[in-house]
Amino acid sequence: MADTYLDLVSSASGGKLARQLGLPAPVRLRRHRPGAPLVPGPVLVLGRGEEADRIAASLLGWDLDVRRHPEDVHRFGAVVLALTELAEPGELAEPALGLGAVLRTLAPGGRVVTVSRPAPGIGTGAASATPAAAEPVAPAVAAARQAVVGLLRSVAQELRGGATANGVLLAEGVAPEAPSVLGALRFLLSGRSAFVSGQFVTVGDDAGRLPDEWEAPLRGKVAAVTGAARGIGAQIARTLTEAGARVVVVDVPAAGEPLAALANELRAVALQLDVTDPRAGERVLGLARERFGRLDVVVHNAGITRDKLLANMDASRWSSVLAVNLESQLRMNEQLLAGEGLGEAPRIVCLASTSGVAGNRGQTNYAASKAGVIGMVAATAPLLAARGGTVNAVAPGFVETEMTARIPAARRQVARRLNSLQQGGLPEDVAQAVLFLASDAAGGVNGQTLRVCGQNLVGA
Ligand code: NAD
Repeated sequence: MADTYLDLVSSASGGKLARQLGLPAPVRLRRHRPGAPLVPGPVLVLGRGEEADRIAASLLGWDLDVRRHPEDVHRFGAVVLALTELAEPGELAEPALGLGAVLRTLAPGGRVVTVSRPAPGIGTGAASATPAAAEPVAPAVAAARQAVVGLLRSVAQELRGGATANGVLLAEGVAPEAPSVLGALRFLLSGRSAFVSGQFVTVGDDAGRLPDEWEAPLRGKVAAVTGAARGIGAQIARTLTEAGARVVVVDVPAAGEPLAALANELRAVALQLDVTDPRAGERVLGLARERFGRLDVVVHNAGITRDKLLANMDASRWSSVLAVNLESQLRMNEQLLAGEGLGEAPRIVCLASTSGVAGNRGQTNYAASKAGVIGMVAATAPLLAARGGTVNAVAPGFVETEMTARIPAARRQVARRLNSLQQGGLPEDVAQAVLFLASDAAGGVNGQTLRVCGQNLVGA
């Protein structure tokens, strides 16, 4: 559904009026377009130490205009804070204030990315179900590391002009130039992460492999996407196809027509299947093997809402939502992992929701199902790691689809603005996060939930 308010304030006069009245002034986000530069200007790398130099050197390898000092640059495309060697909180002052001094020069759609290490025993909340660093560290080190989280999340709320701030957390022993560190850094710098802000991606080990072609990281892979007939699922199927994958698109028989049209458009294979079918996992795997010889990526996107306050909830509303959104994923994963034919480094990406992180009035069933997905992903991660693969979740906030078009108009307007980017996301924003997690470059990212919510301020 079109966001007419965003259209209005996107004009110069509309934007000025909104700011004068103190109203939200969202801007159009910088999204990935093939051929567009990775960042909209030079990249400033702040932070001291040998690892900071290595991070700057890695960025130079992508032909970026990398600076270690802000002199003579009027507009930065991104600022990277290389903070992996912090030993005590006092060391954060220089890079933090250095960032503050250049924030006004950040280009529209610019990026701030921290690269640091996690404090032991503390996950990053909703963004990561992976245990943080296992090794104990000195309290001063832990304090400095966790201070980065507070800094980053606050900066993300202060940015304007569609700019975002996110972080990469490197588990102990992971080198700054590990493929998944660079993969995560590149994703967060690029237009592919337009609606991701205030989040951390934890790189748990050195696994991962940088793609030969950044524009087609799934070349030669086979993917299956459930709930693909429309909305986010259809866009995921498109994005994975554009990234080089051959795709099996799955949806209920009632959605057979749009599913067939999509399969035609993408030269994909359509499978009419209800994901609650007791043999759904076997059927998806079987068809992918029959048509393409293998299955590398599975995206559990099918989902439904049946909203009611708990006091008015009936058994059918509760059970149907849990069955489609959670139990089907559990059963399909068991069958996928038990069967032959999954590729060498399988990737599973599950759709959760910020409702599963923060809860949502009228959505006890939906929030329970989506929180369950977050728990399932964390517990399934070791099973995938044992096969060289990963399983992660993406938790969208408010995304413009038919699902959210059903929300009453006044509530929909409020829901759209309740994030740092002051607008709803688009299906492509979710699809790009799925693509990142499905790609070889994210091989060191496992068991996590990545929020694609514009830094939703509820339950942040
Ligand atoms: P949508 O309702 O537009 O599309 C969902 C698709 O799933 C439909 O094509 C539907 O036919 C299919 N589906 C439903 N039940 C199925 C079943 N039993 N078997 C196979 N297919 C089935 O929804 P959307 O907005 O595109 O959401 C996609 C996913 O993203 C869902 O899991 C949803 O919970 C999640 N999500 C969406 C938002 C949002 O703001 N739109 C926010 C958070 C999470």
